[in-house]
Amino acid sequence: MKYDTVIGLEVHCELKTQTKCFCGCKNNFGDQPNSNCCPVCLGFPGALPVLNQKAVEYAIMAGLAFNCSINNNTVFERKNYFYPDLSKAYQISQLEKPLCVNGYVEINVNGKTKKIRLNRIHLEEDAGKLIHDGIGGTVVDYNRGGVPLIEIVTEPDITSAEEAVAFLETLKNTIAYTGISDVKMEEGSLRCDVNLSVKPAGSEVLGTRTEMKNLNSFKAVYRAINYEQKRQIEEIEDGHKIIQETLRWDDSIGETKSMRSKEDSQDYRYFPDPDLLPVYISDEEINKIKSKLPKLPTELKAEYVGYGLSDYDASLLTESKEISDYFNEVLEKVNQPKLVANFIINETLRKLKEEENKIEANRMAELLILINNNEISTTAGKQVFEEMWKTGKDAKTLVEELGLKQLNNDDEIKKLVLDAISNFPQSVADYKSGKTSAIGFLVGQVMKNSKGKANPQKVNEMLKAELEK
Ligand code: ADP
Ligand code: MG
Ligand code: ZN
Repeated sequence: MKYDTVIGLEVHCELKTQTKCFCGCKNNFGDQPNSNCCPVCLGFPGALPVLNQKAVEYAIMAGLAFNCSINNNTVFERKNYFYPDLSKAYQISQLEKPLCVNGYVEINVNGKTKKIRLNRIHLEEDAGKLIHDGIGGTVVDYNRGGVPLIEIVTEPDITSAEEAVAFLETLKNTIAYTGISDVKMEEGSLRCDVNLSVKPAGSEVLGTRTEMKNLNSFKAVYRAINYEQKRQIEEIEDGHKIIQETLRWDDSIGETKSMRSKEDSQDYRYFPDPDLLPVYISDEEINKIKSKLPKLPTELKAEYVGYGLSDYDASLLTESKEISDYFNEVLEKVNQPKLVANFIINETLRKLKEEENKIEANRMAELLILINNNEISTTAGKQVFEEMWKTGKDAKTLVEELGLKQLNNDDEIKKLVLDAISNFPQSVADYKSGKTSAIGFLVGQVMKNSKGKANPQKVNEMLKAELEK
């Protein structure tokens, strides 16, 4: 039998606020364990939480970036459970009235775009971090407890590992553009749980899902999905039922292990936190936040395509905010989108794979202006680029030092053109008899004799004029 895979993701993303979600403790990754804690985030009796306005603003920014409606009225609830990483024994979260609802993320897989609907984005606090490795037991660091977190929940619209990874990449890149989070999977500021079920192909009824946790990289998400869909299909084919449970992905052995049977929301005894007032956010405030949102990758990409760049090139330039900011900065000084895009894509991005950018935007612009003004050829420009990267010298100096100045003097070019015509009568005859491609050879000869410095456009024009005399 054929099966469909159905996937819904729950993505947790830590917000880059200065302080925690409900107290004034610092929100700093990597500090001395248990140094950023207080009675509020540790949940001492009688301590009172105060909502961090910035966290609300950031969560709304995420909602707007992903096309959500923002609820004017929102409520914080207690999600009760006991676990050593949660000393309060409840997490402040949102269930009934989350901040953001009903958005979508547009993904691109194999040249096709698809909308993955979002069910909600809510604001909550993170729990502490349990550390199990290498200490012969488990210890806990409560610094992370109380850090503001958004949870982004998709509808079950994802159908493959490829789509899931494309979704996460788009999500991560867009969040990075908004600046509300570091979105670093390796530091845990972006984490993802995968809900997965299978059903007979085409069936309307969803199968029983499992939830996989502990996915620490896009690669782990990809592998876990492929493993789990196969496992579920095999279970069903063997006549077994899928048990709704929470699984732990073990990346080292490439398998899922049962953690616990899945709890339902009623198990958590959610109720409005009596220590926190309901929050009202006016449309005016929402619009103010909207106006602070920077241009997002989809918007920028459309803009670049509008400049005449290909869809592919526009995607490459919007793969990170660093790159598109750089592109915009150079473009401001050299208004030649294709020239700038080609250099950044073919030269800068290639070099960036090895080390961080060595050529500031204004120095890059100086180089491209030389090319655009025909002072050096594109080929010479690439050579200058390499040297700039290596030596840190500026473009003009290098052009002098390397003797790369383009030959634009009409008389000198004409002399080279006439030489080529008299030295290669066969090519001239070919051209005159209608084989116009023969001109290519003659251009090549002129370029060679000028040591690559002659302005190729001028060479072409002059040769044509002479041959057609
Ligand atoms: P919980 O909070 O208990 O995990 P939710 O109803 O919020 O439950 O759903 C969590 C995620 O599971 C959502 O992304 C949703 O799209 C997904 N999901 C729900 N049902 C299924 C299913 N049958 N198969 C795959 N994913 C599902
Ligand atoms: Mg869940
Ligand atoms: Zn605190």
